[in-house]
Amino acid sequence: MQIGKILFPISSLGIGMRIGIWVTGCLRNCKGCANPELQYFDKSKDAPVDDIYAAIKDYPFTGVTISGGEPFLQAKDLAILVRHLVEDDKEDILVFTGFLLEELQSKHDPDIDYVLSHIAVLVDGPFIESKLDKHPLRGSTNQRLYFFKKEYQKAYEDYIADGQRIDYIPVGDEVHFIGIPFEGFRELYPKVNIRDSKKEDPV
Ligand code: SF4
Repeated sequence: MQIGKILFPISSLGIGMRIGIWVTGCLRNCKGCANPELQYFDKSKDAPVDDIYAAIKDYPFTGVTISGGEPFLQAKDLAILVRHLVEDDKEDILVFTGFLLEELQSKHDPDIDYVLSHIAVLVDGPFIESKLDKHPLRGSTNQRLYFFKKEYQKAYEDYIADGQRIDYIPVGDEVHFIGIPFEGFRELYPKVNIRDSKKEDPV
């Protein structure tokens, strides 16, 4: 699976203390994409999913967010990753995709079907800059949230009601800004570690 980055802990892309996994490779080139460096496929970043999972499985995460890039362009590996997580009872899995749910379903791909039937939340649709949203889990208003596992829905709705937030994660000389960007978020670093529009304390 071609992976661009893995970060832990993050609280900006879903409930609880999460691990974030970003794949490389996407064919859409949405104007204003938040992760343009992840649009390119990069074979040098290819690693067996079993190895990737072995490296992350002991982190104390309560949920997993998979983004990119386009995760469903690596559907076979994505399904293996989701299977590992589900087998270890880590079922709060949120996946971002530029595809519409209907497009994914119409492929009748067993790997895609497996992922869709085992993840907790899907955020679908391409980012459309002219439809910018102020929402913690989607960049533009055309994107839709599907709560496939109803036991997580209330917690996600409460999380969404709390507003947008950004994780500022220093890695070497860089700072990774993780979350759905909002106006002025860059200026907040390093004054705060986690910015939430209604809460002062990190989750
Ligand atoms: S689908 Fe997502 S990763 Fe791909 S170009 Fe659009 S915003 Fe970027």
